[in-house]
Amino acid sequence: MSLANLYPSALILIIVMGALSFPALFFRPAPYGRHAKADSGIHLNTKLAWVLMEAPAPIVFVVVFFLGKDATRSVPLFLLVLWLIHYVYRSFIFPFRMRSGTKNQPLMTLMLGMAFNTANGFVNAYAISHISPHLGSGTLADPRLLAGTALFFAGYMINHQSDAILRNLRQPGETAYKIPHGGLYRWISCPNYLGELIEWCGFAIAAWTLPALVFLLFTTSNLVPRAVAHHRWYRDKFPEYPSDRKAILPYVL
Ligand code: NDP
Repeated sequence: MSLANLYPSALILIIVMGALSFPALFFRPAPYGRHAKADSGIHLNTKLAWVLMEAPAPIVFVVVFFLGKDATRSVPLFLLVLWLIHYVYRSFIFPFRMRSGTKNQPLMTLMLGMAFNTANGFVNAYAISHISPHLGSGTLADPRLLAGTALFFAGYMINHQSDAILRNLRQPGETAYKIPHGGLYRWISCPNYLGELIEWCGFAIAAWTLPALVFLLFTTSNLVPRAVAHHRWYRDKFPEYPSDRKAILPYVL
């Protein structure tokens, strides 16, 4: 089967996964971290599971990207760099900086994550370096590319700052949960997720491709229910939890 034949199937797979997970995750949050369940089957070491789950995104992206006819053009290369800035960190650095206690990751979450990251790395790379004339002949001075890139880095900084605040809540080896303060935690319970959404919104604007938009919608369908579940969990666990804090969107949700 050629990449061209595979492309629509992979795109449909991501759309179906996102459409199913959005309502399902409101009823049952993905069973890892604080929402882990004893009945969720075989488990793997969390750090190893993160690497296995996320690594297909950069690896598949790079392979498919360099098979494309526009792989040496400036705008596609620029988008490749944005993708790798996020995914090299998320796949190979973030897991080793986490202070996740002793909890393990269910195999099912890992398999779904790997399937998504493989399909998503493929469709995004394929769209960028194979089939998008507006990118192949584009320039780095394009206002849409510049605006999207600025948004991408704003989200990246929010995501990193928020994840660092969470990390510093625990000493190495500690497993307890605490109330996070500082940065955007002043207003919301999950600024790391908001940062991630802003990042992929910026990428979708910069790339202006269907897979980048689908990726943003998928991330929303994943992270908004999880932020609502985290927020509810904080309020149940800590009676003193700041009452004016929202889940993911300041003053709104
Ligand atoms: P969480 O916020 O649930 O946890 C992140 C880390 O911080 C974990 O190690 C967690 O420990 C720890 N932690 C969280 N809250 C506290 C607290 N109150 N006190 C002490 N430690 C805490 O994030 P996720 O694990 O869901 O996601 C991690 C990153 O991956 C985020 O940046 C997110 O944006 C990204 N991501 C992206 C997705 C996408 O669809 N693009 C999907 C999922 C995640 P523990 O494991 O013990 O809970």
